Amino acid sequence: MSASLEPKISRTSSVDEKQDNVLLLSQIQKLIQKKDNNNLYKLLKKNKKSRTSYKKLKYEGVIYKIGQNLCIKADRRIDYVAKLIKIVKLVDNNDEIYPLIKVQWYYRKFELGDIPKNYMDYISENEVFKTNEYDYIEIESIVSLAQILTYEEFDKLETMNDTTYFMRAAYINQTFQPPIEEWATTCICQKPPNPDLKYIQCEACQEWCHLKCVDLTKDKAKKLLNFVCPKCQQ
Ligand SMILES: [Zn+2]
Ligand SMILES: [Zn+2]
Repeated sequence: MSASLEPKISRTSSVDEKQDNVLLLSQIQKLIQKKDNNNLYKLLKKNKKSRTSYKKLKYEGVIYKIGQNLCIKADRRIDYVAKLIKIVKLVDNNDEIYPLIKVQWYYRKFELGDIPKNYMDYISENEVFKTNEYDYIEIESIVSLAQILTYEEFDKLETMNDTTYFMRAAYINQTFQPPIEEWATTCICQKPPNPDLKYIQCEACQEWCHLKCVDLTKDKAKKLLNFVCPKCQQ
């Protein structure tokens, strides 16, 4: 190689680098416009300055740790719920920083697709279902921590707030695991209990019964001193 060629070669490669950088930045802009954080992650995780191994993050004065459950901002009035899986700081060639979190979604009642209508009667507004769906989302989507209890724990609560949920099944590939037919049941109708509905407890067998299944109104139920269910009356 002659000495005179050297500057030419190095100039060409720096022009290429600049073009690559311009291309990358326009790609990043497009992904941000589309809010496509999953592909933004794929694109920038290779950058040497990007880091994907934080154990906790501080946002608006609250510390969030991997494995904790979160309430996530939704377009509607009620929140989504998700588990915090990963905290990442992506960096582009201009040292612009893109902090993101990876979450595993829980479905809430309003997110369940085509399930039989009567199933909806058994499902609570405070119920969540673990899914196998993951996304990268902005840290600014975090609303607060969420608490996910078992049904039994939730049932015993004296007071509740809107960040407390319970889980008795997962929802994987549009299917409940375990299936609804295997959920614990209550009442003489033997249906899965829904804490959103009104129940009355039998003094004899301690079973909770739907007011409508035992022909009671709310007012009548309040006035009753003792309730004994039809099964125990026989
Ligand atoms: Zn019933
Ligand atoms: Zn009874």
